[in-house]
Amino acid sequence: MSELLDYFKGQQDEMIDRLTTMVEHESFTRDKAMVDKLADYVVEQFEELNADSITRMLQDEVGDFLLAKWNENADGKPILFMVHIDTVHPSGTLETFPVRQEDGKYYGPGAFDMKAGFIIATEAIRGLQALDKFPDRPIHFLITSEEEIGSPLSEPVIREIAEGCELVLVLEPATPEGEIKTSRKGGGKYSLTIEGRASHAGVAPQQGINAIIEFAQQALEINQLNDLKNGTSVSVTMVNGGTAGNVIPDRVEAHIDTRFLSVEAMEAVHDKLTNLYPKIPGAKVECVKGHSRPPMVEVPGLFEKVEAIGKDYSVSIYGGPSGGGSDGNFTAAMGIPTLDGLGAHGDGAHTLHEHVIISSLPRQATLIAGLLMDWEQS
Ligand SMILES: [Zn+2]
Repeated sequence: MSELLDYFKGQQDEMIDRLTTMVEHESFTRDKAMVDKLADYVVEQFEELNADSITRMLQDEVGDFLLAKWNENADGKPILFMVHIDTVHPSGTLETFPVRQEDGKYYGPGAFDMKAGFIIATEAIRGLQALDKFPDRPIHFLITSEEEIGSPLSEPVIREIAEGCELVLVLEPATPEGEIKTSRKGGGKYSLTIEGRASHAGVAPQQGINAIIEFAQQALEINQLNDLKNGTSVSVTMVNGGTAGNVIPDRVEAHIDTRFLSVEAMEAVHDKLTNLYPKIPGAKVECVKGHSRPPMVEVPGLFEKVEAIGKDYSVSIYGGPSGGGSDGNFTAAMGIPTLDGLGAHGDGAHTLHEHVIISSLPRQATLIAGLLMDWEQS
């Protein structure tokens, strides 16, 4: 076993204590006051770790964002950590889902996704400082608070802060098998609006333009865009239309969810959805893109680099694709090497059985510490 791994194993109990403090600060995305309290704790942690600067980006609707920096004046491009501190669990979940440990697993709301990720990253910094091995290179640490609703407000902040970085480390949970996510699907939401003309269904149906019939034909055509073999899915997921049982409906609103593996597939689907033509004369069809995340495409050689560093510290890692998206999608699309799924091993994200495999905490801290010390400047 490497000296470093041995050291972090000795820190495991302290990591668990800090994780409990994090989890017991509940932080549902929609509860700004609670998320801000957790941000206060995070600021204390950054102060303890002697950050050169801590910037709090005040937000009106969601919890504040934070940016901490170490070695601001050192040479080289920064390594950027990205952690979201919000969870999907409404405030009060702790009452029915309290923290507990069982068979080497740690249970608690938000523990796996992704409070353990914060603990791992900060432990790597803490450990390297304690061992006097903290590298003299710029290290930035971004905290966001609305990842679980798709990062609508933090996306431009992430893009600005990631610009010019050497490497982005996303501390989202690993897969149950402990895989680093080497690629992630992108996704986009679309709103489809169909307009027809209302008319009495008994007295003058011929004067109406039935928006539901127009929608039905569009929905079948949209469904044809699915190409599951190649990782593209296009799903009509919600529909709303009609006003009364005896009225030809004049309006339908629908929601479309899209997922893809490549930028080309994303653009092809976008092109089709934004160029739908009405089937019924007089009907109007409009499809507008909402929030989206570009795909995180695998970078050749990136995983192998991490694997080699892990090996030097007795940590063997695995890599694989993920169907879900994360904030890493934004930075990967900017062409910045991005490693995702560096957080805890475990399972059950977004559920009441989410848990962390406790032994993965020191293991991942070792890997992160190795990356901070040994990642070569490009
Ligand atoms: Zn997450």
